[in-house]
Amino acid sequence: MPTDHPRKPLISGNWKMHHNHFEALQLVQKLAFRLSDDDYDVTDVSVHPPFTDLRTVQTTLDVDKVPIKLGAQNCYFEDKGAFTGEVSPAMLAKLDVALVIVGHSERREAFGESDELVNKKVHAVLRHGMTPIMCVGETLDERDSGNTEAKVAGQVRAGLAGVSAEAVAAMVIAYEPIWAIGTGRNATPEDAQATTSYIRGVVAEVAGTDAAAAVRIQYGGSVKPANAAELMAQPDIDGALVGGASLEADEFAAIVQFHRH
Ligand code: PEP
Repeated sequence: MPTDHPRKPLISGNWKMHHNHFEALQLVQKLAFRLSDDDYDVTDVSVHPPFTDLRTVQTTLDVDKVPIKLGAQNCYFEDKGAFTGEVSPAMLAKLDVALVIVGHSERREAFGESDELVNKKVHAVLRHGMTPIMCVGETLDERDSGNTEAKVAGQVRAGLAGVSAEAVAAMVIAYEPIWAIGTGRNATPEDAQATTSYIRGVVAEVAGTDAAAAVRIQYGGSVKPANAAELMAQPDIDGALVGGASLEADEFAAIVQFHRH
């Protein structure tokens, strides 16, 4: 379901469990130095440091008036209580966090996060006025056995259960084939387009065509400066969720600047 509606791309850097708060400060300052208003005019940019770096990065962005959006990598779905080790969406909202990654495949695979838990987290993030970046994607086995569409459709339907069409329209979905994350193997632009277009069709079924036309769908999985422009040129790809290449300011800035090519 390719569409003509313009959706401002969102390029998000998922730092995963890298960089202490000193390193985070250096990285965000370097990044701010390399990006300009010309970039922010055409592309939204977010960084998702580990929890321990959030306050440092938030203060830097705020004091230097840098329009990079602050993101988190995860949160719990309850606001407070006896949940040792968890971080609440209320705490993130208080730190000016704008976007929260929910259901990253590393959390689904390594920490057993279910579709139901992901759905609760989507609701919790929305309740606090933040934007979920809800990740979906298939394993290599699922892809090889022709089950990509069934897998992502199930994740999209379950993840969006009970979410209003208006909220879906403002959300971000990241299509991240698991076999392409951190492996150096990326989906071809045609493959990534086919699956993001399919996901948009599933969103249309669950939330209506207006929401489907508005929702931003990122591609994630070994996005680098060399492949970013071609991936972003696809009609249903509205940005990228970038892991490894977001840890270096030069590389991440070059991805954000895909529009210059
Ligand atoms: C990710 O962390 O979401 C990701 C896509 O990682 P990488 O870019 O390293 O594949």
